[in-house]
Amino acid sequence: EGIAPPKRILFPPEKICMVWQQRQRAGAGLCNVGNTCFLNSVLQCLTYTPPLANYLLSREHSRACHQQGFCMMCIMEAHVNKVLHSPVSAILPLAVLKVFRRIGEHFQPGREEDAHDFLCCTVNAMQRACLSANNDLDLSSQSTTIVYQIFGGFLRSRVTCFSCEAISDSYEAFLDVPLDIKAASSLTAALEEFVTPEHLDGDNCFKCDK
Ligand SMILES: [Zn+2]
Ligand SMILES: [Zn+2]
Repeated sequence: EGIAPPKRILFPPEKICMVWQQRQRAGAGLCNVGNTCFLNSVLQCLTYTPPLANYLLSREHSRACHQQGFCMMCIMEAHVNKVLHSPVSAILPLAVLKVFRRIGEHFQPGREEDAHDFLCCTVNAMQRACLSANNDLDLSSQSTTIVYQIFGGFLRSRVTCFSCEAISDSYEAFLDVPLDIKAASSLTAALEEFVTPEHLDGDNCFKCDK
């Protein structure tokens, strides 16, 4: 609806498994090497995202990856396998620390960075890695990577004119949804607040061309 169907399917949606495929005990913790708690917390969230972890544990990515040099999916695959198979209680996330500046050029080693910013940059880097061999894909096909299917989507903004009821839709691709969690009592409430219709007036008023 409103978005052209993809010309190519990069990852078949039926292969995405939302529940753990193998029983997992909690994996290793991550050592802080100085102001890296923002990085560790993001890595832990991603490691315990079952559809992503299932895929990375299968090592399907690296078996087919032809990327020369930096590939965030190869890095995450190595990290998740290390964390979830480690016999020790805490490890250094060395593979990720090594490519820290490639994940986001603005990141400064030793500086406390913003966890949300780091998450967005990491998910974006994973998405770029999934697309690496497919440079000239339409937007719709780009949304068929495993990363996009787990984290992404399309936001539809719909404006309805009160005088003639004309509808105008616009779509925007996203890999994260910014929610106001301070004001909300639950995630569901925050999502409901995010999609609550607004009455546009004043400077925001929609100029209907009909
Ligand atoms: Zn790779
Ligand atoms: Zn109108």
